[in-house]
Amino acid sequence: MAVIFDKSISGRQGVRFPTSDVPEPAPLGEAYRRDGDAPLCELTELDVMRHFIELSHKNFSIDSGFYPLGSCTMKYNPKLLETVANMPGFANLHPFLPQLRRGCMLTQGALHVLYELEHQLCAIAGMDAFTLQPLAGAHGELTGLMLIAAYHRSKGNDKKEVLIPDEAHGTNPSSAAIAGFTTRSIPTDPETGMLNVDALATMVNDQTAAIMLTNPNTLGIFNSDVDKVVEIAHRFDAQVYYDGANLNAILGKFRPGDAGIDVMHINLHKTFATPHGGGGPGAGPVGVQEHLVPFLPTSRIEKRDDSTYQLNYDCPESIGYIAPFYGNFGVLLRAYAYIMSMGREGLIEASENAVLNANYLMNILKTKYDLPYDRTCMHEFVISAKNQVKHGVHAIDIAKALMDYGFHPPTVYFPLIVKEAMMIEPTETESKETLDAFAEAMLAIADRAEQEPGTLHAAPSSTCVNRPDELKAAKDMDFAHLD
Ligand SMILES: *Cc1c(COP(=O)(O)O)cnc(C)c1O
Repeated sequence: MAVIFDKSISGRQGVRFPTSDVPEPAPLGEAYRRDGDAPLCELTELDVMRHFIELSHKNFSIDSGFYPLGSCTMKYNPKLLETVANMPGFANLHPFLPQLRRGCMLTQGALHVLYELEHQLCAIAGMDAFTLQPLAGAHGELTGLMLIAAYHRSKGNDKKEVLIPDEAHGTNPSSAAIAGFTTRSIPTDPETGMLNVDALATMVNDQTAAIMLTNPNTLGIFNSDVDKVVEIAHRFDAQVYYDGANLNAILGKFRPGDAGIDVMHINLHKTFATPHGGGGPGAGPVGVQEHLVPFLPTSRIEKRDDSTYQLNYDCPESIGYIAPFYGNFGVLLRAYAYIMSMGREGLIEASENAVLNANYLMNILKTKYDLPYDRTCMHEFVISAKNQVKHGVHAIDIAKALMDYGFHPPTVYFPLIVKEAMMIEPTETESKETLDAFAEAMLAIADRAEQEPGTLHAAPSSTCVNRPDELKAAKDMDFAHLD
């Protein structure tokens, strides 16, 4: 595939400048002048347009096709949110504009959005306060664990260990380690697919700083024992952290705060519809109960008696800065606009449809694919390529083959406790027709695995890159071989 510089033709021009009608400025000093022309590519406007349109067609996005990437919640992002995010009063805000000075109201609208969003999240999650500072889910986890560390420090508790279920997202143990804790894995019960509460009870002790819980967990199963986990933890003054990266299944149905969860994060870019992927953009607000509020990062948004807003930096017990500016304001704004446009009933309906869609698909796919935890699922489910492995076909082959049918592959080889895992999250924004077309492709691939497994090893054949050598890609950072 040619890069734009390969297409350059000497002398081609895309822009013509009018003859200058102002006096020539004095020439730059010798030291500041180039030896030759700048190495730019020479193309017409049409050449440039075609090049980038062609590239954009090689890209897969939720706007171009079904994208059932489990745990990542790739749902349709209504374009209304883009209109709101592009309003000049928001889009052109500068972080150094004054909050409120001598009648200058330039940032009051943005502060109003932040204030309202915090209160909406409190209502949705049943928590007492949220910080909107963290820039991603993993960043939220780190913030939450730093809050827990600050809480224990303030009480003189010497607690070093965080307990994490073995199905958890990899960011959980990483965040705990970065926050200075050691970690231990809680086993999942093979029957229920939920963390084993009896095992947990034997693991919690004076050393336990926190338990991290994901619910629904990464198997897509709702843990009905949350209150028991909280009760066990609180016996030892351990805090319960809730990984709320995916709230798609529980909006209006379950509030972590009501179950006694102490601290949690929410991925706004997943549940509240910001286009995301490839590492950003994101927002991972962290919610806490009253006893953790003093430790929240600066700044805090406050409403004054005259109904104007301010950022308060005077928080003596705060863990300090997590991110100095609200650089993710666009994500926060989209989440606010999404919640406002959906309303309470709309959010509940979204969750119900997300769960319905996942169960519909799961029940079709389990006719040909192994379903290790055969229970009603929430917003996602995990199947395994175990039946196909007998024919030499692995999860990676099925994922690659799906691309030839026009679908984005699901998340594969995660969670780690399921061999040959394929984690499928259809989301509420997909129609029955799309789900049926995807199911048909998956069943056709299962048939091919039995009848002509070799063809699946060669897939995909319709994409511009078929199977990169993953080992080489990781070890040899010279990308020349991708020509
Ligand atoms: C996506 C996800 C995270 C991490 O969120 P990022 O925004 O990618 O940092 C953490 N936990 C779970 C369960 C997730 O799905």
